[in-house]
Amino acid sequence: MSFLRNLSNPSSFTFLSRFTTSSAPLRYGGLGPTQAHQKPRVVVLGTGWAGCRFMKGLDPRLYDIVCVSPRNHMVFTPLLASTCVGTLEFRSVAEPVARIQPAISKEPASYFFLAKCTAIDAHNHVVQCETVTEGAQAPDPWKFTISYDKLVIALGAQPTTFGIHGVHEHAIFLREVHHAQEIRRKLLMNLMMSEVPGITEEEKKRLLHCVVVGGGPTGVEFSGELSDFIMRDVRQRYAHVKDYIHVTLIEANELLSTFDVRLRQYATKQLTKSGVRLVRGIVKDVQDQKIILNDGSEVPYGLLVWSTGVGPSPIIKSLDLPKSPGGRIGIDEWLRVPSVEDIFSIGDCSGYVESTGKPTLPALAQVAERQGKYLANLLNKIGNANGGRANCAKDADFGDPFVYKHVGSMASVGSYKALVDLRHGKEGKGLSMAGFVSWFIWRSAYLTRVVSWRNRIYVAINWTTTLLFGRDISRI
Ligand SMILES: Cc1cc2nc3c(=O)[nH]c(=O)nc-3n(C[C@H](O)[C@H](O)[C@H](O)COP(=O)(O)OP(=O)(O)OC[C@H]3O[C@@H](n4cnc5c(N)ncnc54)[C@H](O)[C@@H]3O)c2cc1C
Repeated sequence: MSFLRNLSNPSSFTFLSRFTTSSAPLRYGGLGPTQAHQKPRVVVLGTGWAGCRFMKGLDPRLYDIVCVSPRNHMVFTPLLASTCVGTLEFRSVAEPVARIQPAISKEPASYFFLAKCTAIDAHNHVVQCETVTEGAQAPDPWKFTISYDKLVIALGAQPTTFGIHGVHEHAIFLREVHHAQEIRRKLLMNLMMSEVPGITEEEKKRLLHCVVVGGGPTGVEFSGELSDFIMRDVRQRYAHVKDYIHVTLIEANELLSTFDVRLRQYATKQLTKSGVRLVRGIVKDVQDQKIILNDGSEVPYGLLVWSTGVGPSPIIKSLDLPKSPGGRIGIDEWLRVPSVEDIFSIGDCSGYVESTGKPTLPALAQVAERQGKYLANLLNKIGNANGGRANCAKDADFGDPFVYKHVGSMASVGSYKALVDLRHGKEGKGLSMAGFVSWFIWRSAYLTRVVSWRNRIYVAINWTTTLLFGRDISRI
């Protein structure tokens, strides 16, 4: 309704008139196929590590770039856990897409659309989308279509819950900036509620019990950040309740199972020393204020963070495209989706099809980023060889296939300590170390990896102010 009302607004109409609408109602308009006088159009789905690295490397002189995503920024996920307790500000880990690839806001036929992809018509080279709106006053979502010459699917993955009842309703995931904001708000709210007169001892303990499910790098880093926050900031600023707040980390198998065994032992020792209670158990049910483990024990919580890995999202499952073992979008060694023309897939949503004989790569930023870079170079090469238009790259020389070489993993465990595992794969050889020097390497490495100078400076300033003045505990 409100969208149709916008048609009386001249500025909105100008915007809409850029679209080819043919005889279809405006409500379902869109960007039609590119014409001979236009540049070929690359449509990118998603603004994560893969999609953004791809857009950064794509040459806007060769292609118009149209990006569709429900968020207009990339999240620097390795530092997301630090924002939950105020070590870093939220904006320090969010990089606007228009800064990564300025063409989408400058070039006349390149765009960013705040929308989600709902379907792909591979035969006709068309993507169906729906706008993303939020808030009571927001316009109703509407649908539109975009024709592509080349399509890059970089839709990421979604958290796995193993079908456990109550996870979606009661737990908070840690994948987006709004998740980190929700965690911070809840944590500070619980701290303040626990000081209110009349609250029972039992309720106080529950409110201040932070439970993290999943002992992978994200769960461990978040637990480490929380214990630092408790030891340094809660002890000083919430002295009345300092003895009530606790962190419990629940893991069904090994903590940090992909890391070297010595590093795992170090992490276990370090977390325990910082007051994190480590529980080996499987969550059976999640209720409003408690979780039930498979041995029948009940764990009351005030804050529950869920971090047990990722799997294919509903949109990936719904796409009628070849799949890899495990249900990701199937790709070949050149990151092309086999059996369809001009579709590529990168990052957590893609995996090699069985016929390649290659294993599925881990869901890591370093995989997504390098696939994005490789694919940008590949499409630039194809564009330069006049293969940019739809169905024009059938006989193109794709050159060398994508090869992934693991450079290692890092994780911080709190108290100025981290793990650095530089072995090439789980059983491979290489250096592995833990402690303060590793923490320094961890911080330096991520500071240099932050996408822009603007955010690098934000991060450095946030770290310095946290060191000097403690974390910000205002609940805004
Ligand atoms: C807290 C945390 C810490 C991490 N730390 C590390 C680390 O230290 N090192 C490391 O290597 N990896 C790390 N990872 C993993 C890494 O972040 C992921 O592997 C990486 O983000 C994958 O990139 P991607 O582009 O495939 O997906 P994502 O970054 O998840 O991006 C997916 C994009 O698709 C968009 N999207 C979703 N649905 C739709 C739709 N229907 N239509 C359009 N767009 C859509 C999303 O909004 C998003 O922009 C971490 C992950 C988390 C959550």
